[in-house]
Amino acid sequence: MIKPITKSQMATLWFDEYGKRNHCCLCGNYGVINTRNRVFTAAGVECGDIVFCICPNGRSWKKQDPQAIENMKVNP
Ligand SMILES: [Zn+2]
Repeated sequence: MIKPITKSQMATLWFDEYGKRNHCCLCGNYGVINTRNRVFTAAGVECGDIVFCICPNGRSWKKQDPQAIENMKVNP
């Protein structure tokens, strides 16, 4: 059985691994990560997506506006 990560554990993970000089090195504090058409498996399968970041900005945006990504005018 997989035990879910707690919010505190996720915040610690983000800060330790991706919080650089009080900025998120995953999204640049934007809160959203867009890897569509940029990430591929070794076999060439496109597996990118547009997702909320795990940083505080991304978590806040997801909580306040879970439809935000769908509302973006981003070409898939
Ligand atoms: Zn971020």
